[in-house]
Parts: sequence; structure tokens; C-alpha cells
Amino acid sequence: MTEGTGRYMAWPATTRYGLSVAPGNLGLVQDFLNTITEGTIAPPDLLATLDSAQEWADQVTEQWISIDELGWAKTLPRLTENDRKALAAFRDRLFEGLFGHSHSETASRAGRNNLTYRPVLTVSTEGIGLRPDGEGWKYFETALLLICHQGQIEGVLRRMKSCKSDTCDVVFYDRSNNNSAVWHDVKVCGNRANVRAYRERAASH
Ligand SMILES: [Zn+2]
Repeated sequence: MTEGTGRYMAWPATTRYGLSVAPGNLGLVQDFLNTITEGTIAPPDLLATLDSAQEWADQVTEQWISIDELGWAKTLPRLTENDRKALAAFRDRLFEGLFGHSHSETASRAGRNNLTYRPVLTVSTEGIGLRPDGEGWKYFETALLLICHQGQIEGVLRRMKSCKSDTCDVVFYDRSNNNSAVWHDVKVCGNRANVRAYRERAASH
């Protein structure tokens, strides 16, 4: 998938930050991570209430189904309050797994090592493959992990980054030639960091 196809507008969470979206199914992972509230725009955390989480879930599954090339997308059951909490906790784990830091400062550390996911190995005339498995929203989480796993193998996952700013975790997709971008928005987060560094230098003289 390339930018500017019109599909761009359909990832509901990432669109709120006006960002370029990750290609293919990786856009789903990026969108899930960008349900956070962040940055100067600070739209609401979409997983904060059951209503907003359901609205996001409806939009994102529709978009997932429309771009899915792997045959993994499917409509998922209506979210329960437990699903919503589990998704928010999973979002933190994914931030840790991908970027080495949690998003939420209040993330519970209880039972941290007990999350396991079981993909399914398949063999067909198209070769050997992996696909997600599991009930309900656990299936969704497994799918996200498998998409990341595939992105790792294809070398595109390292282009998906969380903004380097101390106060911003927005997840962007780096399309620069040398994969060197660190800010989700150079004008906002980059400038703020430059100003701070300048002040610190000035203060130390
Ligand atoms: Zn940022």
C-alpha cells in the first residue's frame, strides 16, 4: 500500500495525528498503538471508555477487512469491559515489546510474564505459514503480534517508531531513506526538544 490512496483516511486512530500510515497490515498495529492520547493535539484515549473503544473497534475492523492481504481479518465480538481493560494492558505490553518502554505510567506490573499467544502453523500448496488463533479479542492480539513478527522478518518493523519526545509516544512510520527520523512531527516535538537543549546549554554556562 502506498500513501495517498484514499485508504489513508480510514485508519481511525492514526489519522487523528495526521500521520503517514505503515504499509499493509502493519497499519493496524500502528493504529492500535495510536489509540493513546498524546501530543499537543491530545485527542482522547480511545480505549478509555467502552463506548469510544467500541467505536474505534468497529472502524478499525472495517478498515482491516478492506486492506487485509493475509486472510486474517474478521469481525470480532462486541467489546466487554474486560476486553477493553485487556486491550489497554496489551497496548502497554506492545509498547514495551516494540519500543522498550511502557506507554502508561500506571501500567500494572501484576502477572506481567503470563501473556502467551498461540499461532497456528499451516501447510498448503502455497507453502508453510502462520496464522492467528484464539477466541474473541485474544485473536486480535495474536494477529497484531504475528503482523509485527512478519514485519520483523521483512525488515519494515524497524521503520515503525514511537516519537523520541519524553512527553510523546505517537507511533509513526519512517519513510526516510536511511530510516533516521525520530520525531512524529519535527515541527512540534523536534522543535520542543531543540529549545529545551538550548535552554539547558544556556543555563550551564
Ligand atoms: Zn511526538
